Amino acid sequence: MLSSSLGTHRILAPVCVLALILGIYLFLRRSYLDELLTRTFNLITLTTLLISLIQISTYAYKVYLVERDRAAQVAFDSESSGIKAAQELPDIYYIVLDEYSRDDILKSDFDFDNRYYLDRLRGMGFYIANCSLSNYGTTAFSLASSLNFDYLQSLGSQFVSGRGINDNNEISEVWQLLQHSKVRQDLERMGYQSVAFDTGVFWSNVSESDVFYKYNNYPYSSFEDLILNSTAVQILLDEVEDLNPEFRYLEWYNKQTYNLDKLLEATSLNSPKFVYAHLLIPHGPFVFGSNGEMHYGSGEQGYRDQVTFINTYILALVQQIITTSSTSPIIIIQGDHGTRAASFTLPIMNAYLLSDRGRDLLYPSITPVNSFRVIFDTYFDGHYGLLEDISYDSDWENDWYNFNVASESNPDCVLK
Ligand SMILES: [Zn+2]
Repeated sequence: MLSSSLGTHRILAPVCVLALILGIYLFLRRSYLDELLTRTFNLITLTTLLISLIQISTYAYKVYLVERDRAAQVAFDSESSGIKAAQELPDIYYIVLDEYSRDDILKSDFDFDNRYYLDRLRGMGFYIANCSLSNYGTTAFSLASSLNFDYLQSLGSQFVSGRGINDNNEISEVWQLLQHSKVRQDLERMGYQSVAFDTGVFWSNVSESDVFYKYNNYPYSSFEDLILNSTAVQILLDEVEDLNPEFRYLEWYNKQTYNLDKLLEATSLNSPKFVYAHLLIPHGPFVFGSNGEMHYGSGEQGYRDQVTFINTYILALVQQIITTSSTSPIIIIQGDHGTRAASFTLPIMNAYLLSDRGRDLLYPSITPVNSFRVIFDTYFDGHYGLLEDISYDSDWENDWYNFNVASESNPDCVLK
């Protein structure tokens, strides 16, 4: 699940509006006002301006600090991991399909039979980990863990119960792990070109990738974007969108379609490349019909339609990757967690295309934390070994880092 907040805009907006109305009134009638009122108005204007400036400066300073400290925050010792570049480096595609549930959940909860699609993937050489769970039930935790091939609790002593309570400053440390992941840093060091796409949600964007496909349908620059997002103007834009939900749906559809097109394009970029595509499909809003047409979907049918559409797209994408790769590519197609509309959120679709050596290390209940351990140990002489596969639930509303071990919903993972 992805979310964002407006922060202090709801407080600042009325202050700005009041200052503006007062300003206009005073301007029109200034000849009748005494000096005291004029000075009061000036004070209010100045204060409002200062608040905005402080907001923008604080944000900019935080960005600066994050950039300066990121090397320290992502304190991994890759030098000692024994990584060596392979002779012919294979392209690596990590395709995350947000909220894509496992086939038994699709069958039991959505009456959706996914066997045809999974069999097609098998026919193309994929191994389907048909008993896989995500390691965490939320996007940021799951991806931070898989992209750094370790559990969050091992990636930082700060991820402990009692700290992660509705405070963006604290969860931003998880975002840093995602944006500046060990996987990307190690692969770039080996000569890989990193590629990522604009998810539309700032904290999940890996915008420092060598190639970053930025969807920008707006006529303003990123600095103007910062201003708009830091002032009361944002609240006005939100209200306009709320009055016109079709605009939001169309914008979302265009954004996702842009990413799908660019992902196909990216297959022709120079090798070796690490392509990380976090697609918010079948995650809602349900804007894709089963044939990819735009529609206003909802409920179970909306989810089924998006699964059907993305299945068709992935088969075409995989075919293109295979036919355009000079060295056998590595492809992971994985849910970051399942849909929240299901009885169990953690069971995920999890498929790997690896050569024989890597394939031998796979097993039905492998979890995302081990994906890149298998890849680095197989292809780059890494010595990471496998971790125990554990899935964690946490109380998202009250205490993010209070993790509880979750159990398998269907131990034999059979379709019912
Ligand atoms: Zn997610």
